[in-house]
Amino acid sequence: MYDTVIKNGSVVTPNGIENVSIAIKDKKIVALLAQDEQQLTAELIIDATGLYVLPGAIDIHFHCRAPAYPDRGDFATETQAAAAGGVTTIFEMPISKPCCATGDIFRMRKALAAADSYVNYGLYAAPGLLDRDEIEDMVNEGAIGFKIFMTSAPAGRDDEFEGLCLPNVPDLYQALKLVAETGLVCALHAEYDPLIDWHTQQLKAAGRNDVPAHGESRPPHVEALAIAAVLTLNEKINANVHIAHLSGKEPLDVFRRFKATGSTATAETCPHYLFFTEQDIHRVGPYAKINPPLRKDEDVAAVWEGIRDGSLMAVTTDHSPFTAEEKERARTDIWLTPPGAPGVQELMLGMMDAALRGKLTIQQAVNLISTNGAKRFGVYPEKGAIMVNADADIVLYDPSVQTTISEDMLFSKSKASDKLYEGMVFQGGIVRTIVNGKTIFLNGQIVGERGDGAFVRPDPSRVDTTF
Ligand SMILES: [Zn+2]
Repeated sequence: MYDTVIKNGSVVTPNGIENVSIAIKDKKIVALLAQDEQQLTAELIIDATGLYVLPGAIDIHFHCRAPAYPDRGDFATETQAAAAGGVTTIFEMPISKPCCATGDIFRMRKALAAADSYVNYGLYAAPGLLDRDEIEDMVNEGAIGFKIFMTSAPAGRDDEFEGLCLPNVPDLYQALKLVAETGLVCALHAEYDPLIDWHTQQLKAAGRNDVPAHGESRPPHVEALAIAAVLTLNEKINANVHIAHLSGKEPLDVFRRFKATGSTATAETCPHYLFFTEQDIHRVGPYAKINPPLRKDEDVAAVWEGIRDGSLMAVTTDHSPFTAEEKERARTDIWLTPPGAPGVQELMLGMMDAALRGKLTIQQAVNLISTNGAKRFGVYPEKGAIMVNADADIVLYDPSVQTTISEDMLFSKSKASDKLYEGMVFQGGIVRTIVNGKTIFLNGQIVGERGDGAFVRPDPSRVDTTF
């Protein structure tokens, strides 16, 4: 007697797309059975005829920032958005008030996420206090990995970024050595700070405060230079460096040069670098202010090529909720709003739409939004695959319908600032999201509860560098 059986679906497994029934018991996938198996008894039998059955997406770059800024969202609201988007696990970045840079703060955030999360969650730690004891404490608590900004903290936000921003190379060098000892992944926000400052000063001196000025202050070479710097530093240190949100051709070219000479670093990109360009700034104004900025058509083409050829091993959202008020105040002065936009609810929709249109295979889409992230961070095969003994984190996806993004179907507390995606029509739709064997989202409604998500702890010995 199983808890749940999902039958008649097209199941995406590591072996391909298989017509099997999935049997779930005690939060785990316990059997994959032939479709004609007659002996199935379960409390719940789900008929997935006509649907793809996918491993839940794992968003390895996510911000809810709780307990800071409840107006923008918290673990409850933002993980509802995740569930509605087929994301069954999020890795929350350490930006918060205070920044997640000590064991005590880590424990506080872990308790908060345990109480509020609708989906599974891993928590990043910030190593930038350069304190080995605190780093060890956070690792022992189960940190999913580390995050370092190569830029300085945005004006007025020092406490959120304390222990996170290391614009000075000697500090970065020490931090990489410390995180290398842990065996965990270290994600880098790679933009070269002195050059951003210089470009920004030039623009401000010329009286520029329009929306496109933001992009001009952070051209692709500031990203390329930072990637070259950190990967050069890391050649002898061999930390598990992972480049966050790589945005275009120049940074990708530099990244590939290091890969060609044996670097084990990995890199991700985000849907907004695949689906939008700097031209979208004219459509949505300050809502498109994101770091790194949206780029040109040639960058979009390069990033698509990067995910197809495997240079970029994950697509992740950098989901960053801000209120519409915060964004609107930058209409007349772009320097006045923080960078970032929501997007967790569109990750799977966007990548599966691309697969259905033949821009990549369904297997590639699943690898990019689920399997590869699980492998990279050391949580595979419990996460990231439909196979026996994996956690029952599963999405039922209907390729025959269309999904139009509108505020009334979004769940982020900051849905009013999700203007990049508003009105977009994706082929396909998310029917049901199952987290640890329990249905959390069904037919447009959240049916789970706070606390349904479970903590995700990495195994450093399984951190995969072979991408
Ligand atoms: Zn981020």
